[in-house]
Amino acid sequence: MIAVSDAFALTQQHLLTLPTETIPLSDAQGRVLRQSVRADRDFPPFHRVAMDGIAIRFADYVAGQRTFPIVGTQFAGQPQQTLAETGACLEVMTGAMLPLGTDTVVRYEDVQTANKQATVIIDELEEGQHVHHQATDRRAGDELMPVGTQLGPAEIAVAVSVGQVTVSISALPRVALISTGDELVGIADTPLPYQIRQSNTFMLQAALRSLGIAATVHHIRDDKALLREQLAKLLTTNNVLILSGGVSAGKADFVPGILMELGVEQHFHKIDQRPGKPLWFGTRVADGEPQRTVFGLPGNPVSTVLCGYRYVIPYLRASLGLPAPPARFAQLAAPVTFRPPLTYFLPVRLVSEPDGRTVAHPLPGSGSADFANLLDADAFMELPADRSEFGAGDAFRVWPTR
Ligand code: AMP
Ligand code: MG
Repeated sequence: MIAVSDAFALTQQHLLTLPTETIPLSDAQGRVLRQSVRADRDFPPFHRVAMDGIAIRFADYVAGQRTFPIVGTQFAGQPQQTLAETGACLEVMTGAMLPLGTDTVVRYEDVQTANKQATVIIDELEEGQHVHHQATDRRAGDELMPVGTQLGPAEIAVAVSVGQVTVSISALPRVALISTGDELVGIADTPLPYQIRQSNTFMLQAALRSLGIAATVHHIRDDKALLREQLAKLLTTNNVLILSGGVSAGKADFVPGILMELGVEQHFHKIDQRPGKPLWFGTRVADGEPQRTVFGLPGNPVSTVLCGYRYVIPYLRASLGLPAPPARFAQLAAPVTFRPPLTYFLPVRLVSEPDGRTVAHPLPGSGSADFANLLDADAFMELPADRSEFGAGDAFRVWPTR
């Protein structure tokens, strides 16, 4: 048995090395950059008019002038015009280049126009107002997005604006999700009195979609020969196998033994935690094939969810090159007692209070098989192994499951 932090560190020491691929930006939503994206031009690329109105020379206004003859119009999408006449103005539209010879924009709301003349009707004017000056946001050549950025809507908009037609991103791992157990039947089956429907693999499949991974789902009975044959096959075509069930101390828990027969080296089996104590983790590093990684998750659904969010998803995120998300903390809403010398992952519902605190309401449920409880919970709170009393208001790390 090892501690939670040691188990986590071991998983992170055996990350996958995934190839880089180049794909059209239009297909890259949710993917992780393997290149940095730089500004091809200044942001904004020219002195950009930020309001519809007129462009003047501020010096004319300072000299006391209030009425300006309108000598033309500068639209967005036109080459830059020049205001040659002193004491005149050009009408300008949002998104246009600021005309040469002007430096300040006055909004239509702040002028009166009549007879091709605009009169400024406000008293306060600032030099350079309503102009978004060239390079105020970023300079040409600046790094806009570093390696490891996940491409969401904002990142895609920025990448488009610099003409990034294709992007180099991390290839996705091939992942197989495998439930084991003679008691499990499929979603469309009617379970006999001693059977239940398999749900863990579908929970994991849904969770992995958030990383863009389309994992395949399999089921294998508690039969050594079948397990050996089918796991061997799945190991040839997948980077990662995530098993559910068959790693505890039961007479039909064959998974660790079979994995070792198939050349998968065990890095740990069993963690000082509840739920999810029997978690198994190993890798196969063989000549001529990329690394294979195997997680053997205990079958109890709450254990599977916890191990998925605490170990498996962080492992896949790190393998894709994503930085660890910032740690989140919350305060216990009520005292909790937990005596075993194990890290206790307590299901909680997080509530954001008006004073800015995040409060965690304990939902202990009836143990690791009570997965209906997870419908009410949205995180696990990690209560350390070296304490047994946890007071209301005490703050601990939380691992969101939504
Ligand atoms: P095991 O880890 O194989 O000893 O299974 C522990 C418990 O989890 C048993 O009650 C199993 O029936 C249940 N279980 C195992 N796999 C699944 C699954 N895919 N979906 C729902 N429950 C499961
Ligand atoms: Mg089982």
